[in-house]
Amino acid sequence: MKKTPLECPICKAKMPLDKLAPPGMCFECTTCGASLRIDQGHMYVVKGCSLMAFAVLLWAAGLRGIPLFLVFIGGGVLVLQAAHFLSAAFWHPPLEPCPPQGMTLFPR
Ligand SMILES: [Zn+2]
Repeated sequence: MKKTPLECPICKAKMPLDKLAPPGMCFECTTCGASLRIDQGHMYVVKGCSLMAFAVLLWAAGLRGIPLFLVFIGGGVLVLQAAHFLSAAFWHPPLEPCPPQGMTLFPR
């Protein structure tokens, strides 16, 4: 996997990690004020891998059926948050301009 710097696609300024918004949310570039978000394709890969690893982990821990389902749903939210911040820290996701409000309901 290619490690790309976390930089504004508009002004090329480096973005501090603590300015990152949760996945899918838009945030402003601290330098030029452009509306940005983490590349969605990148986040789908990160989320998909994280959830699969989480499911395998629960299965390996002996959970089956309804308990597995409940723990997966409950823990999945935490896993996604953790995956988001870990990926931002260790595998810098590319940023992309944030689409106008109202278009975020239709991910590409
Ligand atoms: Zn910028």
